[in-house]
Amino acid sequence: MLTRTEGIVLRTQKYGEADLIVTYLTSDRGIIKAFAKSPRKTKSRFGSSMEPLTHSKISLWGKEQASLPKITQSDIINSFHQVRDDFHDFISVSKLVEMLMALSPENIPNKRLFTFFLNILHTVKASEQGSKDVLHLITQIRLLATIGYAPRLKGCGRCGGKGLNFYPASGTILCSKCAGTPVGEGKSFVRIHDNTVRFYTHSIEWPIHISNRLKPQQVILSELSTLLDKHLTYLLSKKLQSSEFLAGVRG
Ligand SMILES: [Zn+2]
Repeated sequence: MLTRTEGIVLRTQKYGEADLIVTYLTSDRGIIKAFAKSPRKTKSRFGSSMEPLTHSKISLWGKEQASLPKITQSDIINSFHQVRDDFHDFISVSKLVEMLMALSPENIPNKRLFTFFLNILHTVKASEQGSKDVLHLITQIRLLATIGYAPRLKGCGRCGGKGLNFYPASGTILCSKCAGTPVGEGKSFVRIHDNTVRFYTHSIEWPIHISNRLKPQQVILSELSTLLDKHLTYLLSKKLQSSEFLAGVRG
């Protein structure tokens, strides 16, 4: 069966001499892997459409639930080479790709996620030099919010009370009372300011194309970067452990 959809290349892996396995975020089928025959042999349009972040119209051949359909056609809609060519943009977007692939399941259609990610690529491509650090941070926060893994910073996650200590192992702010229990839980936390919570809330709620109006102080940026790094490290290592565990069970 032939399927047509739109896809954004998340990752490619070499397969054999000249073939590729391409991981796409698609508009109709979610994150999928597909097989490309010999795109590396020549500098063809077909080959260049498999550069990371390229947005293309693709045709896939294979049974609907086939684990590895074959890419029979791929026409570039937007190459996003500007994002690939800018070192900092590419590092930042690669981090988003990593988060996306680690935290979102494959083969679950999610049109909203596709539209969101495409929108991010357009926003990063059009962004100006000055606002990059803020934008990169906002894209991380928004991606986490879109896939349901955003840290909770508006009050204590257990009782709703006041608090400004973020506990990575719980993914939320906890007030001093709730942080005390249960005994034995990881006690490491990040202390943040009210202003950081305000910026965080705005960065999720404001439309991303006007997010360059957000001008947070350096202290807010560094607080939030530290918090996100700890949050992600915890999330990803937990995820990694569980997938290793599952691999062990299946093996
Ligand atoms: Zn509490």
